[in-house]
Amino acid sequence: MTQQLETRIDIISSLAEPHWADNWNFRAYLQQKVSPTEIDRAAQALAQDVSAKIDCTACGNCCREIFPHFRPGDVSRLAAGLGQSEQALRSTMRTEGVDTTVFCVSPCPMLKNSSCTVYEHRPDDCREYPHMHKPDFLGGSIGAIENYGTCPIVFNVYGQLKKTFHYDPKTDYIGQTNPETTHGSSYKSS
Ligand code: SF4
Ligand code: SF4
Repeated sequence: MTQQLETRIDIISSLAEPHWADNWNFRAYLQQKVSPTEIDRAAQALAQDVSAKIDCTACGNCCREIFPHFRPGDVSRLAAGLGQSEQALRSTMRTEGVDTTVFCVSPCPMLKNSSCTVYEHRPDDCREYPHMHKPDFLGGSIGAIENYGTCPIVFNVYGQLKKTFHYDPKTDYIGQTNPETTHGSSYKSS
């Protein structure tokens, strides 16, 4: 189903800015022209196919570039796995949102030699990233656009979705963009 995949982070990163407005336009195109059911069906099939062909252990770019969100249960699990108190672990984090925390530093301090040192205890956000398999693709597509230049899975799924729905940026210009949104600043909310 998928065409040749682009997995080179430098290339993907360099294409994010030039595709930024068009990615927002494609989102508006989907909203106007395609049913949510059709979008979800296509996105989930592409996500499954692309994810199976990309080796995350050889990439790890999300661990370097993006702050994973920890819910309270994630903090407890990681603290137990590390043999630390929750308080000690929380001292390395800052609050982001009502019940969400993130590490104060990036890359993730749990990343060593390009591998996750707490893989069994990683937060759900890491387990589910890049969230492309979830229902309501449109609802989560802001996160997809933000992570387009960071994650090869997102880059390829979003790009191939344009082909699936015969999107042509020249003739399908809707004129809706959201340039104020920060690029890839955090994990997409679950
Ligand atoms: S989820 Fe994306 S950025 Fe993270 S390791 Fe896999 S391909 Fe790389
Ligand atoms: S906890 Fe592990 S999987 Fe999650 S960002 Fe950190 S190193 Fe990556």
